[in-house]
Amino acid sequence: MNNYFNFENTYTNLPKCFFTEQGVKQVPLPDLIIFNDKLAKSLNINIPLNNKNETAKILSGNFNDKNMNTFAQAYAGHQFGHFTNLGDGRAIILGEHVSKFGKRYDIQLKGSGITPYSRQGDGKAALGPMLREYIISEAMYYLNIPTTRSLSVIKTGEDVFREKKLQGSILTRIAESHIRVGTFQYAAAQQDKKILKSLFDYTVKRHYSNIKNYENIYIELLKEFSLKQINLITNWMRVGFVHGVMNTDNMTLSGETIDYGPCAFMNNYDPNTKFSSIDHMGRYSYKNQPIIAQWNIARFAETLLPLISSNLDEAIKKAEDIIKSIPKTYKTSWLNMMKKKLGLVDNDNEDEKITNSLLSWMEENNADYTNTFVDLMNEENLSQGIYKSNEFKNWFEIYKKRKLRQNFSKSKSLKLMKENNPFVIPRNNIVEDVLLSADRGNLEPLKKFLKILENPYDKNIKISNYYKTDIKSDQPYMTYCGT
Ligand code: AMP
Ligand code: MG
Repeated sequence: MNNYFNFENTYTNLPKCFFTEQGVKQVPLPDLIIFNDKLAKSLNINIPLNNKNETAKILSGNFNDKNMNTFAQAYAGHQFGHFTNLGDGRAIILGEHVSKFGKRYDIQLKGSGITPYSRQGDGKAALGPMLREYIISEAMYYLNIPTTRSLSVIKTGEDVFREKKLQGSILTRIAESHIRVGTFQYAAAQQDKKILKSLFDYTVKRHYSNIKNYENIYIELLKEFSLKQINLITNWMRVGFVHGVMNTDNMTLSGETIDYGPCAFMNNYDPNTKFSSIDHMGRYSYKNQPIIAQWNIARFAETLLPLISSNLDEAIKKAEDIIKSIPKTYKTSWLNMMKKKLGLVDNDNEDEKITNSLLSWMEENNADYTNTFVDLMNEENLSQGIYKSNEFKNWFEIYKKRKLRQNFSKSKSLKLMKENNPFVIPRNNIVEDVLLSADRGNLEPLKKFLKILENPYDKNIKISNYYKTDIKSDQPYMTYCGT
């Protein structure tokens, strides 16, 4: 027996329809590609690293633990607006690890083989997409954005066939939980109030214990969940992150970003930026993210209606009041965020206009979203290139005057900007380069890049290669679902 993890199981106490217990299939040749030592230490995960083969075996789920009770979760979801029954088609939860601080995390293998929810899929994952999830999720964490984390990637020794033959891999994902809006949709579809209520109670206990004594706890959950999502989307908008597949099964009750499939970071500021190859209508484009979040939250609200009130009209009215308030709450949250990026505090009638005119200028001039804010933090950079235009100079004068009106020192304003404007993001071209090297067996560029991404707000790091980009437009950059 060992104690790599401190497993407990609570999810499997839910009604049986929520999961299928299933063992983990052995993979032929587990090979360790990357392990997140820092994350393991911070969560008190004790996986030995002295024998690479042994470590890889553990991270393929091949070990004994008396508290391990592996299972795949059932869920449903709206995919691009269409309701479907889903579930973990290529993932297995090994257990809930409880850290020494009493925090609970799902330990999940992604790419570990077929489950009863696999439908037509092979249950597998390829090296590139799993390393991509590792890079972007860790980058998000260090950008201070709620996210699932990545503990490791191993190769399985199996081939995976997509358009071509790829190297099979398993990512170990760590999440506060894998309860999704889609899990609630699945519960509601069972048309049994007891089943729905069991998921609701479980979720409150696991993620929202602060509301357990409220009178209308259902409405309170809806409010709190909306705030978590508004905070999340505001953060995505702050760093130019485009999730790419905001289906309701990819929205967590914990408020963590999940499912790094066709996501990417925007280079030039263009609100219509989208990356996913199948998102023809731009449903999940950068600018649509807050709107889709509201749509998803409305789907979540629908699942709660039978619990909110036995009078359906009354339940709808209560839920609607919250859903309708989302755009205004989001807008305030967004403007506060943009003000921080600009080093502005206090309220000034000009704030929204100043923000929007900068964004319009950026759009018209193909300005890089990240680098523009970096340059605003260093006036020396503003004497060159696109900043020489009168339009920019006029904007900058107005902005400077606005700054003088606030009761906030220059150094404090700069500090605020530095905390909110990253110097480095996982640029698409660099992500692709390091993945290509990794695929060919050279992991050094990947490891170097991950190190850089650990300090995105630190200007002192030697990041020149990562800071400037010659890419003129994101639009040819395509990412793929179902990888
Ligand atoms: P995603 O686009 O990653 O959110 O996945 C949507 C659904 O498809 C989920 O239920 C996944 O578990 C499932 N899925 C994705 N890829 C595979 C695969 N290779 N085999 C089986 N199921 C998959
Ligand atoms: Mg998903």
